[in-house]
Amino acid sequence: MSQRRCERRVHDGERNHSFIKMRRSLSFSLSAEAIRMHIGRFDIKRLTRRQQACDCRTPKLEVHLAGAVFLFLCRLTPATICDSNERIFMRRILDLSMTLQNDVPSDPPGYEYSIAYTSHQDTVPTLERRYPGLQASDLPNGEAFALETVNLSTHNGTHVDSPWHYSSLLEDGTKPRGIDEMPLDWFFRPGVKLDFRHLPDGYVVTAEDIERELARIDYSLRPFDIVVVNTSAAAKFGTEHYAESGCGVGREATLFLCEKGVRVVGTDAWGWDAPYKYVAERYARDGDPSIIWEGHKAGRTVEYCQIEKLRYLEQLPSHGFQIAAFPVKIFAASGGWTRAVAIFDEP
Ligand SMILES: [Zn+2]
Repeated sequence: MSQRRCERRVHDGERNHSFIKMRRSLSFSLSAEAIRMHIGRFDIKRLTRRQQACDCRTPKLEVHLAGAVFLFLCRLTPATICDSNERIFMRRILDLSMTLQNDVPSDPPGYEYSIAYTSHQDTVPTLERRYPGLQASDLPNGEAFALETVNLSTHNGTHVDSPWHYSSLLEDGTKPRGIDEMPLDWFFRPGVKLDFRHLPDGYVVTAEDIERELARIDYSLRPFDIVVVNTSAAAKFGTEHYAESGCGVGREATLFLCEKGVRVVGTDAWGWDAPYKYVAERYARDGDPSIIWEGHKAGRTVEYCQIEKLRYLEQLPSHGFQIAAFPVKIFAASGGWTRAVAIFDEP
């Protein structure tokens, strides 16, 4: 391998929006044919022998390095293989997560979280106790280390709900799974975005709404697609109106998705169901308890997970990307935080 360039740019202008663009440009001194012949075998020695047999002038060490880097790339972008002497790989990652930040409203009153910051100076006494005789002046800049203590629930921040959140018993009498029990391969799948920003606050999305949107974007759902809904709540993020904004997804629509084989859904609203305020108004009017948390409770019929408080869905196309949203593993918990991202592999 003669050259490897890697550029990584991070734009984080608003401190809650991260856009990472990674470009790898590779130029191999090995022939593309030699690489292709050996790619499935992961056999660097054989690759070396073949290069020597074909009187390639590439030094042996360089061939080994090429093989090592090649295997590394196979692990990262297995679908992208060079077919010429120079191949450009483009991987774009769009952050779909909110930043945990004090005093930026993202939950209704009573559900707030807090972050306590301990400075590099605050921790000097800790090091002085740990290393008798040490003084602050002995440390670079007189500093020890920074750390933060966070007080939040599993449902603050961008997070994944597990079926245990919805109920302690499924309709079939079995126990729903906690977040630590969910299969990881649910959370790294092709993504589909449904644009429901035009729907009014409090509206409950139906199966027909989803079918109409799928027809508009010309997409047929496949099992295990991750379906995310872009609501009008996104524009209210960071204000006190956020938790009361956007549409919700009802039981019928949630089960419609589950019947298509979808097991992970997501929303950029505060929750998967319609905001409390509107459901409370309907309940006061009709007295029907089945509308309370109807989307969540559909998880008693079919186990599914939902990602809540996503961000930047408006920047996504309707499909043609992957979503990765692995939940933090908390024993027997009803949810876990996630750094959800959309991944675009572009040739
Ligand atoms: Zn939740």
